[in-house]
Amino acid sequence: MSEQREIVTIDGPSGVGKSTLSRRVAAALGYTYLDTGAMYRAVALYLQQLQIDLDDEEKVRSTLSSLDLQLLPADGEDGDVGVVVGGQDVSRTIRTPEMGMLASRVSAIPAVREKLTEMQQAIGRAGKIVAEGRDTGTVVFPDACWKFYLEADPEERGRRRVEQLRASGQEVDARELLAMIVKRDRDDQERTLSPLQKAEDALVIDTTSIDIQEVCRKILEFVREKKSC
Ligand code: C5P
Repeated sequence: MSEQREIVTIDGPSGVGKSTLSRRVAAALGYTYLDTGAMYRAVALYLQQLQIDLDDEEKVRSTLSSLDLQLLPADGEDGDVGVVVGGQDVSRTIRTPEMGMLASRVSAIPAVREKLTEMQQAIGRAGKIVAEGRDTGTVVFPDACWKFYLEADPEERGRRRVEQLRASGQEVDARELLAMIVKRDRDDQERTLSPLQKAEDALVIDTTSIDIQEVCRKILEFVREKKSC
């Protein structure tokens, strides 16, 4: 098995537990955790701060040619990865529901996807990773050794996101958040470019009523037995 294929991908809609699981699986395996959603959020913020017209793809493309995006290791076992853009620490700023919506909008722009897919593949070539996102098993790392697709009922996903945001000190309206999640997932699933979908060879896990530790145990068992290599 080549180093390059020693990649675990964990895809699925928001609130299924991808981030927590990806971090824990990466820590248990000694792999690097790659949060691709954080990259889309960072680009959304970057384009917003520069007031770039998102309908002007050439402008978006040329602006991204000077993007200076750095990912730093996660803050503790259950902390988010650090994100620095052009020397500015945006780790917290990108974590709002509004930035999630904007990330979803910019993620449908071909120039954005090309740029970030290239960056993600370069990170994958450099070492063993656990990549989390929407298209990591289908488009970014189609040859990944182990692929997982997580799903859960929308109400439960909404509940988890509310809990997660409140834990990070953000006040959110649960109903409004659920509506945003449903819209974001629908947009992510319906876009033409790299839509959110299950890779054919992914193991699908419904996390609605399974404890996160149990899902983590399942994933690690599957990886360690190298069932899909
Ligand atoms: O995972 P997270 O909620 O941080 O992702 C924010 C948005 O970024 C998603 O709703 C999706 O539109 C986009 N995204 C994507 N492809 C990925 C990761 C995230 O299009 N691999």
